[in-house]
Amino acid sequence: MPVPVLAYHKIDRPTADIKLRGAFTSPRNFAKQMAYLKKRDFKFYTATELIEFYRNNGAFPQKSVALTFDDGWKDNYTFAFPILRDLGIKATIFLVPSCVGKTTAKVVADGESEREHLSIEDIREMSDYGIEFGSHTLNHKLLHKIAPEEVKFEVEESKKEIENLLHKPCQTFAYPAGFFTETAQQAVKNAGYIAAFSTVYGDDDASHLYALNRIEILRRNRFLFQFARTVKPLAS
Ligand SMILES: [Zn+2]
Repeated sequence: MPVPVLAYHKIDRPTADIKLRGAFTSPRNFAKQMAYLKKRDFKFYTATELIEFYRNNGAFPQKSVALTFDDGWKDNYTFAFPILRDLGIKATIFLVPSCVGKTTAKVVADGESEREHLSIEDIREMSDYGIEFGSHTLNHKLLHKIAPEEVKFEVEESKKEIENLLHKPCQTFAYPAGFFTETAQQAVKNAGYIAAFSTVYGDDDASHLYALNRIEILRRNRFLFQFARTVKPLAS
């Protein structure tokens, strides 16, 4: 069974300037996907709950899933959160603390316009509901491209900032663009995170808790039958 973690980015419709449309899931399709999982009796975990289950049981729970969202986009609050709240679903959002409350081009693809991130108020409201907030580095740095001291800084400072914001432990981490190194894994572990997620460069073996794969839900999953096929291995 693959690691039962789904990775989303933007829950929104792409605007005309967008070159990489793959990271967009429309609110309508997202609602359909969540309704599908609910109807099929999938259980929802935060990333931390899922890792704790694994640590206690030596395996991931069957027919379960942790939803994760990278980058902390405002659309997660505007479009995804109402759907999650309606269905009573929990999730984990990986924040870039230097972008909180800002509209910036820091995390967008080259040539794309600035995009709005979650505000402090959005984050606190979602946290009160039960959404977990993990780290995605302080500045969305690609960790295989920077010096070890900078890796350490990005990993540690982002954790501190999120904990200061929410007064809750920040326990999970997602590597920007999925890239990690041995140094990065060690830095994440030393900082006190319990697990770290890649996308497809990690491992399906859950004993490697600092290099876990996730199942990316991309535009190619926009038809429900495609999504159903993608999540099927989690139900067996
Ligand atoms: Zn990212």
